[in-house]
Amino acid sequence: MDLTSKITDLPKIGSIFAGKFEKLGISTIQDIFYHIPSRYLDYSNITTIDKLRINEVFTIHAKIISLKNICSKRGLKMQIGSVEDKTGKLAVLWFNQPFLIKTLYPGRLISLSGKIGFFNRKLCLTSPDYELMVEDDSETMHTGHLVPIYPETSGLSSKWIRRKIRDAYELTDIKENLPQKILNNFHLAGERDAVRFVHFPNNFDEIEIGRKRLAFDELLNLELKSLIRKMNWRKNKVIHKLNIADKTVQIFIKNLPFKLTDSQKTAINEILTDMEKPISMNRLLEGDVGSGKTVVAATGMYVAYKNGFQSIIMAPTQILATQHYKTLTQLFRKTEKSIKINLITSETKQKNIKKADIYIGTHALLHKKLDFGKVAFVVIDEQHRFGVEQRKHLIKSVGFQDRSNIPHVLTMTATPIPRTVALTIYGDMDLSVLSDMPPGRLKVTTWVIPEQKRQSAYKWMMSQVKNLRSQIFIVCPLIEDSESETLADVKSVTTEFLKLKSVFKNLRLGLLHGRLKSNEKDEILNQFRAGEIDILVTTPVVEVGIDIPNATIMVIEASERFGLAGLHQLRGRVGRGDKKSYCLLFSNFHSGHAYIRLKAMENTHSGFELAELDLKLRGPGEIFGTAQSGFPELKVASWNNYELINNAKKVANEIIKNPNNFLAYNFMPSKFLQDN
Ligand code: ADP
Ligand code: MG
Repeated sequence: MDLTSKITDLPKIGSIFAGKFEKLGISTIQDIFYHIPSRYLDYSNITTIDKLRINEVFTIHAKIISLKNICSKRGLKMQIGSVEDKTGKLAVLWFNQPFLIKTLYPGRLISLSGKIGFFNRKLCLTSPDYELMVEDDSETMHTGHLVPIYPETSGLSSKWIRRKIRDAYELTDIKENLPQKILNNFHLAGERDAVRFVHFPNNFDEIEIGRKRLAFDELLNLELKSLIRKMNWRKNKVIHKLNIADKTVQIFIKNLPFKLTDSQKTAINEILTDMEKPISMNRLLEGDVGSGKTVVAATGMYVAYKNGFQSIIMAPTQILATQHYKTLTQLFRKTEKSIKINLITSETKQKNIKKADIYIGTHALLHKKLDFGKVAFVVIDEQHRFGVEQRKHLIKSVGFQDRSNIPHVLTMTATPIPRTVALTIYGDMDLSVLSDMPPGRLKVTTWVIPEQKRQSAYKWMMSQVKNLRSQIFIVCPLIEDSESETLADVKSVTTEFLKLKSVFKNLRLGLLHGRLKSNEKDEILNQFRAGEIDILVTTPVVEVGIDIPNATIMVIEASERFGLAGLHQLRGRVGRGDKKSYCLLFSNFHSGHAYIRLKAMENTHSGFELAELDLKLRGPGEIFGTAQSGFPELKVASWNNYELINNAKKVANEIIKNPNNFLAYNFMPSKFLQDN
């Protein structure tokens, strides 16, 4: 077996367990090695019964004297008994594991790890981890070492995962990918050692060394993918050559209803310079919520139009697509009345689709068989909401025969990705950043609110609505950290909605979630916009781009579950008009990383600063707020290890420059080359 072998090639893994592994994102041997322990139990102190001390963790090897099931007065099932070694006897106790007596019968030799305490005023080992031993010096896996604890899922315990990783390790030929010289230069362990250090460590130093190597490989893969994507992209020729006439662009800009910010001007220049070249543009436009990305994209569309070509803009949700439609119509109104803009959603009937100069839509654009005409410019908004496949599909499906000729592509995101991260993950794209905001935006006053102040917060909200006619968003996080809403999410937000209805009896409440039909969503949003709803209770569907200037209060439930970038985007939904705005972050956390992160929201208002902070403050193994923040997540490496990131980049460049030097090491697995 090798790293690409399927997990089902391991002994005793059939379709049921394969399915469970899939829940953990594991399908190959490589994946299982990258299933990194979230922590380790230190069971390495092996001793004898006479040396035990209260409240210390240790491991003993002993023989079962007795074990029986009993039932406590309160109906609790207990397994109680005793064990002995050369030095003495000790009571043992488990709860709710009646089947244990079948395996742990008198005379059996076992290894036990755990903490010693008291039971019935006697020293007792309570709920220890155990494993059977054949002989007194048998090798152990779950006791007597640093024992890894893995992220689990129902039906897959750490104990079970541990055994499978051991099988995988013994059966797999783990080849070294990198020349010894590189390992020496960057102080990296060998591949096979690294896997052993992480999963079967002898001490904490080994864990560090092993993790470093696996992290390096992870980053190296990302860097290589970016570089290869970039190389492949450069092979494409531009499908329609464009002429950029500065004068017409100036007229368009002069006729806009506002003055461009400096960074908007710079970004427009960068984009227009790209669009004049014979190689297709592949650019990422990064800008905080409200920084004005649409008008930058519109300038490109305008140029395409002036050259007689079409543009397409794809947005992740119907709400956003509709909003783009309104904004673009407004922007072109004065300069270019004849420009035809067409909104296409999943509900648009095929026969109603007319030819246009600009097509706006959701991914429905991909599913309709459309003749878009001659598309010279494609814009993808909030790109992290789309899969790589959808993106490729859009770029390649815009109606041209020769697949090596493609349009200019601008990708936009409001996720403030720090530079190091952007250059690693999106290293194939050029980067434009909108670093300043249009004038006149007010800072949103932000408070972290502990549970015991909830009632007074509600009172305050009530008075804001009554006295100032404020409108409020209340956002409930998704239950599971998934990309899309599940039925359980809908249920939970609905329950919250009903609860809030009884709290805010005299106010008008609305409910919005992703499972509503799009006309229902529009209806609710229109009511909210028109001031017919005071409080909109919603899942994070509002996160991206909804523009309702009258809403001035954003309340976020269980706010610690969001990444700072996600919170910042939500906060960006208010403070869009000229009224003073507030953001209330409810949380049960009063200390630790989560709390410090939330407190940062009170003082910091720049998306980029928050994103950097998020990287620094995120503790290892913190699971919440990943999918919801739109921030790319790493398995082992961390985004704040700049040195490792830079070293991986150096090696990636070396591999791309001299691939032949690396062939012997079996690097550049063919899947990298295909993946673009
Ligand atoms: P985002 O970057 O979040 O997509 P938009 O492009 O939707 O932001 O712009 C947000 C709002 O700001 C829009 O109503 C837009 O017309 C307005 N806007 C954009 N640029 C400027 C500017 N330079 N001055 C004033 N308002 C602007
Ligand atoms: Mg936008």
